[in-house]
Amino acid sequence: VASLAARGEAQKDALLGGLLVPGFDEPSCASRYQSVHYRKNMTRPPSPHLLRRLRRQEALQRRCGPGTEPYRRASERLSSRQSAGDGDGFVATVDGCGYLVLISYRGLGNRILAMASAFLYAMLTDRVLLVDPGKTMADLFCEPFLGASWVLPQDFPLEGFRDLGEDAPESYGNVAVNRSGSVSGLRFVYAHLDHAASPANRLLYCDDHRQFLHRVQWVVLRTDSYIAPGIFLNPAYREELDMMFPRKDSVFYLLSRYLFHPTNDVWGMVTRFYNAYLKNADERLGIQIRVFDGDEPFQHILDQILECTSEQHLLPGVVTTGVGGGGAPPLVVRSKAVLTTGLNSWYHDSIREMYWRSPSSTGEVVSVHQPSHEEHQHFFRSIHDMKALAEMYLLSLSDKIVTSGWSTFGYVGSGLGGLTPYIMIKPENRTVPDPPCKKAMSMEPCSHGPPFFECTKKEIDKIIDTGNLLPHVRSCEDMPWGRKLA
Ligand code: GDP
Repeated sequence: VASLAARGEAQKDALLGGLLVPGFDEPSCASRYQSVHYRKNMTRPPSPHLLRRLRRQEALQRRCGPGTEPYRRASERLSSRQSAGDGDGFVATVDGCGYLVLISYRGLGNRILAMASAFLYAMLTDRVLLVDPGKTMADLFCEPFLGASWVLPQDFPLEGFRDLGEDAPESYGNVAVNRSGSVSGLRFVYAHLDHAASPANRLLYCDDHRQFLHRVQWVVLRTDSYIAPGIFLNPAYREELDMMFPRKDSVFYLLSRYLFHPTNDVWGMVTRFYNAYLKNADERLGIQIRVFDGDEPFQHILDQILECTSEQHLLPGVVTTGVGGGGAPPLVVRSKAVLTTGLNSWYHDSIREMYWRSPSSTGEVVSVHQPSHEEHQHFFRSIHDMKALAEMYLLSLSDKIVTSGWSTFGYVGSGLGGLTPYIMIKPENRTVPDPPCKKAMSMEPCSHGPPFFECTKKEIDKIIDTGNLLPHVRSCEDMPWGRKLA
């Protein structure tokens, strides 16, 4: 505490402008109230209306969540295999408790984007959010809600829900198109918003919840994407979202700072690495390297990183002729710590060697660090996912960040940190794209499977450019058909 006070940080607001509430047991999740000491001040404070909605959601989670009488009744109804008996499906207003269950699949970046956007959708539709923990979630995140759980209980009665696909009879597309909105006889509705969902299932982006979803107590959602931009396109939620987020460029930033608190094990990995390699530098640059061509090293990727960091003046060049670092040392030596993340260590090794063999052209001391090199992506292995989370978190503690286009891992690193990234465009034909990277328009993640029709018309066969409908929903830098908030 003394050293923090010395750095003038004792006054930092651990509750992030009311985003977080006091009262959690601190030692069991140190990151929740300590992360503020590793970060710059909030660049986007939460609006009073967002705070009201968060408190309302917490109250709902406590009143209807696992362990409560309403939850017991609702799960009994779900398992009873009978419809409500009114011929019209279940009524979400039974006990005033409706539920949104999120299926977990794909990489950790995808899962984090899905959780943040499912939480937003749950708030907008007054549903309790329950996240399928998969095999690793308990090792990754603390509970975000005081006195309630967001983890789907082990005994959740809907067998086989992880195998639901978009052709299921309960799918939103099927109910909307083939059943004309009748939920009679259905125990739940399945919302399929995978990035490659069919147009009929994407109609959910236009749902105003008054049509038929409000009559369904259980909604099961599958998405691997950041669905918020699509939700912003829905006129039904426009007014509410405007009040919650007067600035549209920081939706993920605020939601992620509210929701994602690493467990003590992950937090230890974050803070030990940060204190050992990054803390004392004058400046920290994060470089997230995600290669979709294969896990082996590629020269064009290294070239792209170096061209990007040079063009954007993020890293100094090196002096390869003349003295090899001799002469009088400069009086003030600036230090720059570079954090690289990636499955392969070759990029890190090459950049580090470059600054070892030759002096930097500016005299800056450049150190290069990478926490791990897992070689290949694995699914649902705890230690693998913990490293991935610790690295996304470390990236978010940089001052500036370079990310790889198309990568949700990079979206999380920059969004969580409130950092507008320099995005390296995904290479085609193994050549460095021109330009190698672009400064993004905002810190928001890109949605990879947005709706492409107008909600007022719901003509799913008529594709329109949804990037021109609203000033704050735009085409992504790295994926022209993707949509992002700005
Ligand atoms: P995306 O595929 O780039 O959109 O990101 P995801 O996070 O969804 O999936 C990639 C997965 O591969 C991660 O969750 C990790 O399991 C692994 N991975 C990819 N890049 C890295 C990295 O830089 N560090 C670590 N530790 N794991 C990585």
